[in-house]
Order: sequence, then C-alpha cells, then structure tokens
Amino acid sequence: MSDCLFCKIIENKIPAQRVYEDDSSIVIKDINPQAPIHYLAIPKKHYSSVHHVPPAEMELLSKLFHAINQVVRSESLESTGGYRLIINSGENAGQAVGHIHVHILAGRKMDWPPG
Ligand code: AMP
Ligand code: ZN
Repeated sequence: MSDCLFCKIIENKIPAQRVYEDDSSIVIKDINPQAPIHYLAIPKKHYSSVHHVPPAEMELLSKLFHAINQVVRSESLESTGGYRLIINSGENAGQAVGHIHVHILAGRKMDWPPG
C-alpha cells in the first residue's frame, strides 16, 4: 500500500534496522524502544490486522512466527529471562500503524496485565 509506513520500509523507501529478512517477513528494530530489546516482526504482504487475513492466506502468519522463532533463537531471548509478543489491533489496543506487526519485547521485567 502506497501510504503505509511499513510497506515503505519493506520496499526500502524508508530506512530501518533489519535484524532478519526472508521471502515473506522482515524483523526490524523499533524506532522508539519500550524495552532493551524491542523488535517488530512484519509480514511483507499488507493486511491491516490479523482478522483481515483470509483463510487462504493464513500461511503468511505461520511464516511470520517462523521469522519470530528465528530471531528468538539467534538472539537467545529465552535465556535473557523471557520475552513478550504483542499484536495491537485497533484504537483501544493502541495500534498506530495499520499493517500487521508483532512486537517482540525482552530484556526487562514486564507487568501484567498490560496498561
Ligand atoms: P503499534 O502502536 O502497535 O501500531 O506499533 C507501531 C510501532 O511502530 C511503535 O512501537 C513505533 O515506535 C514503531 N515505529 C514507528 N515508526 C517506525 C519506524 N520508522 N521504524 C521502526 N519502528 C517504527
Ligand atoms: Zn503496509
């Protein structure tokens, strides 16, 4: 989508620090980190939210979790004390960018429930 920030990052029209990339996903460093480690795992195909992904395209989400798995393993995030995955969907959840992304947070103790 032409006016989507993450599509522009995927197309290299806006710079970002990539930590992982494959044919269907990228993982980048969040520009405003909320923990010592804060990455965003983003599918290359544009959908605004998980509930917009049609059944025939669900593989996109398993590939996204494959990308997350690769990063968690390569950076040994489990051994730092654990990590949190977050998907914000819609206004009440605080979604600011309308392109599916999974936050990967690690490196500090986190509260529950989230604010
Ligand atoms: P959300 O509120 O779940 O939509 O999360 C959007 C995230 O994108 C926020 O954590 C922002 O800090 C992050 N973000 C916004 N612009 C950029 C950018 N240019 N590069 C990397 N992360 C960004
Ligand atoms: Zn997009």
